[in-house]
Amino acid sequence: MKALVYRGPGRKAIEDRPMPRIELATDAIVKISKTTICGTDLHILKGDVASCAPGRILGHEGVGAITEAGQSVTSFRAGDRVLISCISSCGKCEYCRRGMYSHCATGGWILGNTIDGTQAQYVRIPHADTSLYKLPPGADEEALVMLSDILPTGFECGVLNGKVQPGCTVAIVGAGPVGLAALLTAQFYAPARIIMIDLDDNRLAIARQLGATETVNSSDGKAAAAVMKMTGGQGADTAIEAVGIPATFELCEEIVAPGGTIANIGVHGAQVPLHLERLWDRNITITTRLVDTVSTPMLLKTAQAGKINPRLLITHRFKLDAILEAYDTFARAADTKALKVIIEA
Ligand code: ZN
Ligand code: ZN
Repeated sequence: MKALVYRGPGRKAIEDRPMPRIELATDAIVKISKTTICGTDLHILKGDVASCAPGRILGHEGVGAITEAGQSVTSFRAGDRVLISCISSCGKCEYCRRGMYSHCATGGWILGNTIDGTQAQYVRIPHADTSLYKLPPGADEEALVMLSDILPTGFECGVLNGKVQPGCTVAIVGAGPVGLAALLTAQFYAPARIIMIDLDDNRLAIARQLGATETVNSSDGKAAAAVMKMTGGQGADTAIEAVGIPATFELCEEIVAPGGTIANIGVHGAQVPLHLERLWDRNITITTRLVDTVSTPMLLKTAQAGKINPRLLITHRFKLDAILEAYDTFARAADTKALKVIIEA
């Protein structure tokens, strides 16, 4: 089969690889129909993710059909169309029993990291019963690829951890796919205002289409002052960090309102200054989380009912043969206006 393989920092290739096989009775093999590229894949290619070794097939998102299920798999059989969760979970270990699938003792974020991933024609999914979701009949498969990772990530790490409430003011720093996923799912709770902050006017225009009430282009370095002015000096009740660099986290520290929450989503590779000298008396909360995908069943229902439209995040489509071009398009998002790219296997 064809697969996109990580070959060490800065290097990737399309290769012919052996078909994955059932290794444990709880595994299933899925024939991928659609997958995508995540910002995290770009982090791996930069060499930022030490757990991902050269030779690994990348990708942790996708939909497809089961071709073979291990003997212990009871919820799925060959032919079932499924959504693959970016997080694999056994459902039984201490962390899974606490709903923290991301910290599963034999799972977590392993796909396209410590085991071969979804940017291929076939993938082996461990703990299939608790890591796959049946697609509803008539499902929009492309749209549901957004539910493998970015929608649960924006919702759980940003909206739920950020305690978004009716009437509150939300600021989202970063209008990439995950920031926009937080924007879509924040609206479940009817906040009064959602202020979107980014460097890219195109992304801010998309944010306004998707429900942002106000936008701030932060390229002049004065975003904090702009948000404080918009909010009458109060700041945002929820400040969601969806970039993963020190400057954007520090911006959240500057704009969080008294009693508010900074909800970090970004993957940070560098030390970030914590300004306790300004924050110690402001009753704020700072949260961090790796997505657990506990909200996936709920998100499937809301997408199926038309309450959210994840398809709005898809900008480009490629065949698996052209995945190198897809990577290039995704990596040059400022020029190509790419958000999520669908790859058809
Ligand atoms: Zn991802
Ligand atoms: Zn577990």
